[in-house]
Amino acid sequence: MDEFSLIQQYFNRSPRHVSAILGVGDDAALWRPTPDVDLAVAADMLLVDRHFFAHDDAFDIGFKALAVNISDMAAMGARPCAVTLCLALPQADADWLGGFAAGFWTVAERYGVDLIGGDTTRGSLAVAIQMWGELPRGSSLQRSAARVGDDIWISGQLGGAAAGLQYSLGRLQMDQEMASRCLQRLRRPEPRVALGQGLLEFAHAAIDVSDGLLSDLGHILRASQCGALVEYASLPVESGLLSLPKQAAVQAAVLSGGDDYELCFTAPARCRGRVQELAERLLLPLTLIGSITPGKDLIMQGESGEQLHFERTGYNHFGAAGP
Ligand code: ADP
Ligand code: MG
Repeated sequence: MDEFSLIQQYFNRSPRHVSAILGVGDDAALWRPTPDVDLAVAADMLLVDRHFFAHDDAFDIGFKALAVNISDMAAMGARPCAVTLCLALPQADADWLGGFAAGFWTVAERYGVDLIGGDTTRGSLAVAIQMWGELPRGSSLQRSAARVGDDIWISGQLGGAAAGLQYSLGRLQMDQEMASRCLQRLRRPEPRVALGQGLLEFAHAAIDVSDGLLSDLGHILRASQCGALVEYASLPVESGLLSLPKQAAVQAAVLSGGDDYELCFTAPARCRGRVQELAERLLLPLTLIGSITPGKDLIMQGESGEQLHFERTGYNHFGAAGP
């Protein structure tokens, strides 16, 4: 299988969601954004031994590579539209490519995303995806938009993906049922696209939790030049994790473990009813975890009002907490 037949077989499907004039096959793709939208653009690179392991299921790698890019669109409130896919492969292995493409296309179909181009080379396994989304002009959810007095909310549950990673590394024991739930969270993240779009009408700032709550909420605080008071006991923890004996590991997963791809957002306190309506419409729990404060510290409060301290703040490729 040469480079061109590989692209033809696995990655050439006609665009159906964007008004594409030209998809895969020419020197560049052409697509025409809807008039009067803002374009959201994001890129993510996944490297073997850094973001995934060579022995991981190829379907999961394809699934997650696209899902995490879509999550960035969700965090801006954008509708994901088009992607390019750059692949470095050690060899053209039909089994691996078939699995990868199946995972990739599953997510692309689910979220209405068109693959419009890319590049394919030989090399250590790496997947780089660039993505474009659209949103109504001037309406995006930016990190810098939090205001003092805002409520802080988080979607879904935290800690599952990081606990799944710890389980797969043999560092955390759990029963089969909980393990498969956590591994599912790690391998098949569900980007909160409908939530992001629903928040456009009233929310202020938003971010997707890819590196851990402390780290990602910290990005909102820095960009918005404000602080936060978060009640530890209010955090929605992945079901079952609170009954595990190793609570220090669970706490680390909830606060600093990444990969959950939930949305953390801020909204004025008068919008609580709208947040609840959205939660009901989307069948997705949305939990109030604290509020935006003057100052610039993220203060985590224990059940009797005491301040809790945590060392690790989140994953950082070049930081002290990195590899
Ligand atoms: P060029 O040499 O002009 O860069 P390529 O031979 O790299 O073109 O690619 C041929 C066509 O296939 C282009 O339209 C490119 O966007 C597309 N393509 C290459 N690799 C991929 C891929 N992994 N997924 C989707 N499209 C791809
Ligand atoms: Mg090329």
